[in-house]
Amino acid sequence: MKKQIQVTQSSMPDIEEYIEEIKDLWESKWLTNMGSKHKALEFQLLEYLKVPNITLYTNGHLALEGVIAALGLTGEVITTPFTFASTTHAIVRNGLTPMFCDINLDDYTIDVDKIEGLITEKTSAIIPVHVYGNVCNVENIDRIAKKHNLKVIYDAAHTFGVEVNGKGIGTFGDASMFSFHATKVFNTIEGGAVTYNDSSIKQVLNDLKNFGITGPESVEYVGGNAKMNEFQAAMGICNLRHVNNEITKRKKVVERYNANLEGIAGIKLSQEQDGIESNYAYFPVVFDGYKMSRDEVFEILKENDIVARKYFYPLTNSFECYKGLYDVGKTPVAKYVAERVLTLPLYADLDMKDVDRICEIIKS
Ligand SMILES: *Cc1c(COP(=O)(O)O)cnc(C)c1O
Repeated sequence: MKKQIQVTQSSMPDIEEYIEEIKDLWESKWLTNMGSKHKALEFQLLEYLKVPNITLYTNGHLALEGVIAALGLTGEVITTPFTFASTTHAIVRNGLTPMFCDINLDDYTIDVDKIEGLITEKTSAIIPVHVYGNVCNVENIDRIAKKHNLKVIYDAAHTFGVEVNGKGIGTFGDASMFSFHATKVFNTIEGGAVTYNDSSIKQVLNDLKNFGITGPESVEYVGGNAKMNEFQAAMGICNLRHVNNEITKRKKVVERYNANLEGIAGIKLSQEQDGIESNYAYFPVVFDGYKMSRDEVFEILKENDIVARKYFYPLTNSFECYKGLYDVGKTPVAKYVAERVLTLPLYADLDMKDVDRICEIIKS
């Protein structure tokens, strides 16, 4: 039987390394609630991500819900529909209204020229998404936000470790959310974080992720439970030791794909962005005017036991749960890309022979 190739494969340390890391938990019997592993990982991530403040979460989605609540957003939030369900749901679950802005055709991030047209007196924030490791136009977003007194929270789930002219991606805007889900470049099994510039929000972020409890006999907020546990943090400590090596290996896979697929009519590949140190999180390909449609390529790969992903499809503004609320026609570029994009398998240990085989199937 031929082996199946999944769209991604989780990074894991050697089992001995993980066992060594969790051994002390059998002595301390401290399994969650900001224990020693949690503290150590926070400290190490501050340095790795080059950010001034960080708060860890049990997953990225609850990190995003938490920071939206902590910053006290109200009314309308400008965001994009070309994202994972989490971004839009986090806005709606906080009782806010997403206002969908279209995306750029070249890097799939928010089209900054269309933001100001969506601002109303109810707008309180912009929640842009760094897509596939591509970085939003952070300077212009910052300029617009300052001019209109809006908060900015980035969904940085795809951009762990990415740098812009040497600056950590998590330093832009008011805050950024990272996901450490098993399928991401860096994982803590499930996990996430918020990074932020204003240290005065640290306490409220921490309180909100622990039921709003602010003291032994006081509960000041209607919080939830979104704490990262010690076993997750231990996984993170181990994976962080190897993440640079993993990113280097991902880069080689991406270069191999590019060498195979470059210059073919009807196949559009992503370009590297100027001044950006990428993390090679995904390998998106847009099929437009190629001899096969995106859906046909998806099926042919599947017949060959290769799992690609229509990511992001469908757009969040066309989800069943939002039926009748939003007009997909107002984000035509997002619609165009969502109907044509396929992310190909990409992970550090993907064999170059398999990359070549995937490309041969697409080309033949
Ligand atoms: C993975 C992801 C999330 C959610 O993160 P979880 O850790 O899975 O909760 C949010 N936004 C984007 C763009 C993602 O890719």
